[in-house]
Amino acid sequence: MDIPPDFAFREARDVDPADHRQVFLLMREWGLLCPTGRAMLQSLPRTEADNLAPLVADMEQRASAAGIEEHVRDISVPIAVAARHLQLLQVSARFVEAHMAGDEDAMMGCWSQLGFAFDPHSVPTAWIAWQVYNTAALTVPFAPHVFLDDPDFPNTGSVVPQPTTYEVAMLQLAETVTEHNGPLLRCANERCQRVFLQQRGRRQYAGSHHKSGVLYCSYLCARAQSQRERRARRKAEATR
Ligand SMILES: [Zn+2]
Repeated sequence: MDIPPDFAFREARDVDPADHRQVFLLMREWGLLCPTGRAMLQSLPRTEADNLAPLVADMEQRASAAGIEEHVRDISVPIAVAARHLQLLQVSARFVEAHMAGDEDAMMGCWSQLGFAFDPHSVPTAWIAWQVYNTAALTVPFAPHVFLDDPDFPNTGSVVPQPTTYEVAMLQLAETVTEHNGPLLRCANERCQRVFLQQRGRRQYAGSHHKSGVLYCSYLCARAQSQRERRARRKAEATR
């Protein structure tokens, strides 16, 4: 599945991690947020995994009490763990957005939303926090793999881990910091102002005043803003 390069700023941004139905619907559309079964904490830093251990133990206990077999649990994703991944992704995206906007208070402040004693008081420590989560997400799925180009050897392709949507989105955040997909833009619709890299809906709509450059996060925002400006012009003409 193609995940838009600004997925964390757009599709994942306004989903409430506390609303497990919303988390489920997001995964149904965009893929799993965490690995299944025993690997479910694999893309998290050690301290975060430790933090989630009681939650995982509790779920294991309830799953076995409910008679859910081991091989089913091995291919399952607990929604609470997926929701935590979503929350981590949202905080990581907020940090990148704050960095791109040069807002140091927001860069330091976003970590307190994680709900445990993790409160960077300087910009460098805030970067370290971001880096710890980002690196943990990229280590396993994007590690180098060696392939033997020999027809006598069985195909080893099936053992290469498939990155989860969380892991892909964390890689995209690293690419956003380095402007791999161009600068992070802010929607010129005054009621929206959300950041984006890729316009949603129809083909690029450059707006009525600018021939080059995408100004709006979506076709709908472009249309709404141009209608607003047209109404304002008409009103100004009428009162002249
Ligand atoms: Zn917009």
